[in-house]
Parts: sequence; C-alpha cells; structure tokens
Amino acid sequence: MIAINGLYKQFGELSVLENISTEIKEGEVISIIGPSGCGKSTFLRCINLLETPTKGEIVIDGQNISAKNADVSGLRQKMGMVFQSFNLFSHLMIIENLMLGPVNLLKVPRQQAYDEGLQYLEMVGLRAKALAFPDELSGGQKQRAAIARTLAMKPEIVLFDEPTSALDPTMVSEVLGVIRKLAATGMTMMIVTHEMKFARDVSSRVFYMDEKGIYEDGTPTEIFDHPQKPRTRAFIRKIS
Ligand code: ATP
Ligand code: MG
Repeated sequence: MIAINGLYKQFGELSVLENISTEIKEGEVISIIGPSGCGKSTFLRCINLLETPTKGEIVIDGQNISAKNADVSGLRQKMGMVFQSFNLFSHLMIIENLMLGPVNLLKVPRQQAYDEGLQYLEMVGLRAKALAFPDELSGGQKQRAAIARTLAMKPEIVLFDEPTSALDPTMVSEVLGVIRKLAATGMTMMIVTHEMKFARDVSSRVFYMDEKGIYEDGTPTEIFDHPQKPRTRAFIRKIS
C-alpha cells in the first residue's frame, strides 16, 4: 500500500535520514521507537510531505506522491496525522473542527458532515462535547477530538506523532484506548511513541530507528524480547 524507496532527508548540512526503504501493507499497525533526535518525527513528516524528502520516493497505492507533479492535496486526504499538540482551532466548536475538512476539502454537505462528525465523536466518547470549545476540554479530551477530526476525513492511513506525550499521566490511557479501538477496526497506522507497553500490545510491527534509518524491523516480540542488533539491545535494556 505504501512503499518507501531510498528515502533521504537532510536539513542543510545535517543528514537525518539515509536510504530508508520499506513497505507498509494495509491494516498494519507500526510503532516507531528510538532515541530522541533519531529522526522519528522527520520520517513521519516526510511520509505525508510536511517535509520534502531530499531524495527517494514515497509511493501510495502505486502513485509516486513525492514526484514533482504529484497531487499533494489528494494525498493529504488519504493520510491523516495526529500531533502531540492537538492543533484544534480554538475559535471553533468541536463539531465545527470536525466539519471543516469534510465540508471544505471533500465537499461533503454540511448536514452530512455534522451527522458524521457526531458519529466520530461518539466513537471517541465525546458526543456530549460537540458544542464545546477546545478550551473547555481536558488535554485527553482535546486529543480524542483531534483523532475524531482526523477520522472525519476518512483517511486510509493515520500517522501519530507521540499522541500522548503532552498529556497528564492520568489522561494517557483514555487516548491510547481510542487508538487501540481504531487498530481493532483494521485502520493502517504508524505511531511514534514512548509508551512501550502500548507499542507491544497494539502493533503488528515495530521499527527501531537509529543511525539515520530503520535500524531494526520486527514483530513486537522480536524487537522487545529478542532484539538482534547491538543498538536495539542497548535501547531495550535501558528502557525496560
Ligand atoms: P524526539 O524523540 O525528541 O521527538 P525525533 O526522533 O522525532 O526526536 P526529529 O524531530 O525527527 O527527531 O529530529 C531529527 C533531527 O533533525 C534532530 O537533530 C533535529 O534537530 C533535526 N531537525 C528536525 N527538524 C528540523 C528542521 N526543521 N530544521 C533543522 N533541523 C531539524
Ligand atoms: Mg519527534
């Protein structure tokens, strides 16, 4: 479904990603772990073209989206991204935040966008907050609303960049619960996370990133219980 071929990313003189190639199949849930600064966020941001790769291809459903003439807005509709910092529009009610993309980008009629928005809020347990403003929500509720807003665009894949790391510890589990529920629906997802127990439970595959690339790629059992390469071993030892 997604093929990444020979991806490189440099920021000026700084080379962050070198020659990453991998494939992500429909329904895979991939957790991305690794030390701070190893390029996890940059990798996700290259996949949905928030950053322009220095070299290499990102191919989705056979379409090379990193080509010069690619349909970037079409791609944005296939891929949702959830950030650490929620990024809700504070002057809009929660339901309006959810309707914005479908109405303006997908040309969904307002009533339909409203009805569907309520269904996504229901899924994340926030139907009662449809008419609230973001500032009236807790951090965990804001992040669940942000996830609902991403789902309202009916993406084929959702990328999460540390969705719980800005949250109070008491709110982490409600957000992870929503992501688990989404995984159970078969949604294709890539999740950068420091929540190792969650990564172990929810993922079909784990990427350990280090040395400017995917240093080791395996099932949760392979990566967490039987890491093969020295840096993965050292990392797993340190965090467990
Ligand atoms: P963390 O776990 O702390 O979030 P990360 O693995 O997500 O780290 P990135 O944010 O991808 O790491 O950063 C990788 C490297 O690229 C770092 O050295 C960072 O300083 C650098 N970097 C990231 N974005 C930019 C940018 N826009 N301009 C210049 N350097 C950048
Ligand atoms: Mg990061």
